[in-house]
Amino acid sequence: MTLFSKIINGDIPSDKVYEDQECYAFRDINPQAPVHILVVPRKEIPNVGAAGKDEKMLLGHLLSTAAEIAASQGLADSGYRLVINTGADGGQTVDHLHIHILGGRPMAWPPG
Ligand code: AMP
Repeated sequence: MTLFSKIINGDIPSDKVYEDQECYAFRDINPQAPVHILVVPRKEIPNVGAAGKDEKMLLGHLLSTAAEIAASQGLADSGYRLVINTGADGGQTVDHLHIHILGGRPMAWPPG
């Protein structure tokens, strides 16, 4: 079981922001911005590249849910960044697909 599955099932505590039948969102334990939330599918998909054809609806749901959560956090007007780190070069440290929602400060480009 992945770290995030343990969070979703309550074995590890989290600061929950949102949940539905497909996904669970909680505040990152090491926030990189005033708002830093992770949106995680309940299904243990290792990364975005590992998502199958049957999971296209789920990927869309995760993205639209991330936008809704960002709006619920008051970020719609100021803007925000959605990030999906993938693999070693992408900086992924937890092999369970997740979208980072980062907001509440201006973001630099290019990313590090
Ligand atoms: P990534 O590096 O893209 O795989 O992102 C993994 C994220 O999970 C990092 O931003 C971590 O700070 C975060 N994280 C790790 N453990 C926890 C936890 N127990 N609760 C909340 N966030 C966590």
